[in-house]
Amino acid sequence: MVPMPEQPPEVRRRNFKEVPLGYSREQAMAEASRCLQCKSRPCVSGCPVGIDIPGFVKAIADGDFRTAIRIVKHDNTLPAVCGRVCPQSGQCQSRCVLGKKGDPLAIGNLERFVADWERREGGMEMPELAPRTGKKVAVVGSGPAGLTVAADCARNGHAVTVFEALHSLGGVLRYGIPEFRMPKEILDAEVGMLEKMGVEFRTDAVIGPMLTVHDLLGQYDAVYLAIGAGLPFFMGIPGENLAGVYSANEYLTRSNLMKAYLFPQYDTPIIKGRRVAVIGGGNVAMDSARTALRLGAEEVFLIYRRSKKEMPARHQEIEHAYQEGIDFHLLRLPMRILGDEQGNVVGMEVVKSRLGEPDASGRRKPIPIPGTEYTIDVDVVVPALGNGANRLLTRPTRGLDTDKRGKIIADPETAETSIKGVYAGGDIVRGAATVILAMGDGRLAARAIHEYLSTS
Ligand SMILES: Cc1cc2nc3c(=O)[nH]c(=O)nc-3n(C[C@H](O)[C@H](O)[C@H](O)COP(=O)(O)OP(=O)(O)OC[C@H]3O[C@@H](n4cnc5c(N)ncnc54)[C@H](O)[C@@H]3O)c2cc1C
Ligand code: SF4
Repeated sequence: MVPMPEQPPEVRRRNFKEVPLGYSREQAMAEASRCLQCKSRPCVSGCPVGIDIPGFVKAIADGDFRTAIRIVKHDNTLPAVCGRVCPQSGQCQSRCVLGKKGDPLAIGNLERFVADWERREGGMEMPELAPRTGKKVAVVGSGPAGLTVAADCARNGHAVTVFEALHSLGGVLRYGIPEFRMPKEILDAEVGMLEKMGVEFRTDAVIGPMLTVHDLLGQYDAVYLAIGAGLPFFMGIPGENLAGVYSANEYLTRSNLMKAYLFPQYDTPIIKGRRVAVIGGGNVAMDSARTALRLGAEEVFLIYRRSKKEMPARHQEIEHAYQEGIDFHLLRLPMRILGDEQGNVVGMEVVKSRLGEPDASGRRKPIPIPGTEYTIDVDVVVPALGNGANRLLTRPTRGLDTDKRGKIIADPETAETSIKGVYAGGDIVRGAATVILAMGDGRLAARAIHEYLSTS
């Protein structure tokens, strides 16, 4: 595999600039030339949106980047995003025949290359728009599901308005995933293209309690709910209310979206922490730990209850975190967070664990080993254990069916909810999942909405 040039770990651990620097044209063409162009195309079935991978890779190998990006965008409206954040090693790349004897083809790196080429050098092409239908669609939430449905509905000729609760667009891509993995210029370019296509965006617009879904239904012909899963889980251990404990969502939002790292230039304080403990093993945990380092922490501990093998984060992010000097404490369970007399975090007690039988999620359950407790001195603790459904919109919406965890129930074939004309997808239906699955949901819903609007 042609290696991806990267900022060296000792440099990047103190800046927020993107870590992988991207392929040059020559590197991309050399990597693409490794593709065997297999007849059976196993990689395509590993991509949730079925991109014609051998097709776009061949075009890159031939130096025809324009054709390559057209092929990718046929199935994926956010290729610069997916090339960076998709869990490729468990998806398309895991099926690559080259991977049986050596490195699989770097499909994500190639997808990123061709998307970056278009944005920087090739000029972004506006998709063809169908004639105006006179129908109006409201989209609630501007994450990957919302942006995808908005783009596809606009292509189909419908007038689209996106309502976003925050002051900035992009959902988790903006407020969660840090700049060193997901540069904001990419989102800005994507949103700019949607604006050119006529999509209207309304920020600081919370739908639910004041302006309701039924109000939207009175003004629009269809509504798509893509509000994500933004409610953080906590551990339920003593000390979680101490000053210096942040949910990963709050920590990343303060740093990322509200630019707390530029305090006092930006008026968003954050306790930076000299010694920071992050709890969890997913992408959210890696992002929090690496953000803490970049905010200036001297030491960052990653506390995870299973082993490295079970970590759900993208492999590349785990490796990057190791390289940057995050101190992994694996097979450890947090017991309690310790505070001083003023209520500030001063430490955390953890206990060693071993793996027992698989639990309900199919992963081996961690079991504490009595007598192995020890204390780590820390002044900031960031639980990064995943997110669930926020009921701010669903609770006041009459007739909208949800499951017992508050997720919206939507038909997997049509994205329809229990309210006629209201569709839903992304994390609010699946629970915390991935960018490409949220986008796939948006695509599917746009088809169903188009059919509904064409026949109603
Ligand atoms: C820190 C972090 C790192 C991640 N890393 C990866 C990764 O590397 N790869 C990957 O594939 N996935 C990753 N994920 C998961 C991925 O980002 C999500 O699965 C995906 O963003 C879900 O998309 P969505 O459109 O459903 O919702 P979101 O991206 O959550 O967007 C929902 C939007 O709706 C808005 N909203 C909520 N309620 C309302 C309301 N009532 N009114 C108006 N607007 C509302 C929110 O403000 C938000 O902007 C990560 C998640 C996090 C938190
Ligand atoms: S969208 Fe994701 S899974 Fe599909 S080809 Fe790109 S990186 Fe692979």
